[in-house]
Amino acid sequence: KGERLRLPPWLKTEIPIGKNYNKLKNTLRHLNLHTVCEEARCPNIGECWGGGEYSTATATIMLMGDTCTRGCRFCSVKTARKPPPLDPNEPYNTAEAIADWGLDYVVLTSVDRDDLADGGAEHFAETVSNLKQRNPKILVECLTPDFRGDLASVARIALSGLDVYAHNVETVRELQRHVRDPRANFDQSLSVLRHAKAVKPSLVTKTSIMLGLGETDDQIQATMSELREMGVDCLTLGQYMQPTKRHLKVEEYVTPEKFAYWEKVGVEMGFTYTASGPLVRSSYKAGEFFLKNLIH
Ligand code: SF4
Ligand code: SF4
Repeated sequence: KGERLRLPPWLKTEIPIGKNYNKLKNTLRHLNLHTVCEEARCPNIGECWGGGEYSTATATIMLMGDTCTRGCRFCSVKTARKPPPLDPNEPYNTAEAIADWGLDYVVLTSVDRDDLADGGAEHFAETVSNLKQRNPKILVECLTPDFRGDLASVARIALSGLDVYAHNVETVRELQRHVRDPRANFDQSLSVLRHAKAVKPSLVTKTSIMLGLGETDDQIQATMSELREMGVDCLTLGQYMQPTKRHLKVEEYVTPEKFAYWEKVGVEMGFTYTASGPLVRSSYKAGEFFLKNLIH
């Protein structure tokens, strides 16, 4: 105990770089966009930005600043009780920049802003509607906070014109307190996903679970069933990676075979799609999966 686990070989592989990658990388320099892909040094960037079989370039953009009001034990985003105020021009400027950038699928996400009355829902929603106005063809996924369970905020975003509503439960029910900020919990997150669907049944809903935090197989299975029973459409499972020594340790490196097993379980349970693998992130090749599973 206390020892850090060694990185297994399957996490050391080089990931191929797709053909759009350089184009996106070069044009990004002129736009004032904060991508999670670059800032979190995501290993999938070559694949997501490069586009794959369907040439769908995907990227994740962070809204509402770089400072969160929460402090989840797996996350390296900085924390403050009162982050700087929102930039009122962000919904317009960001939408313009994204529309011009050349993406097919964009994930808009944000820090949690418990300091704001609506948690930033209006700001988030305006970004989506501006973007869809500029570029109706781009597919938009929002990966949102839980808004402390405020369903009016959830509805505001669900009705803003997006295609996919994502909110992550992050881990199995039993480990919520251990992993997430105490203001988050499993039932609150489920209610966010359920409400998004209730106000707009044509929306695709999506959530994500990290493995390797000490959860058991039974807990994973039960969590997946609950999500499915609540009507969540899509699920991603990926390996938890410790961002710094101050964060939760990795308890287990789940093998690629085991990830493949969970993918099969997800398919059998009836999720529209399940993406499961050591390097899968909630936004991993999201455009690709969307087109393959929901349009074809
Ligand atoms: Fe990180 Fe989100 Fe938790 Fe904030 S709420 S600490 S951004 S995971
Ligand atoms: Fe960006 Fe998400 Fe793809 Fe990573 S997985 S490169 S954060 S879109």
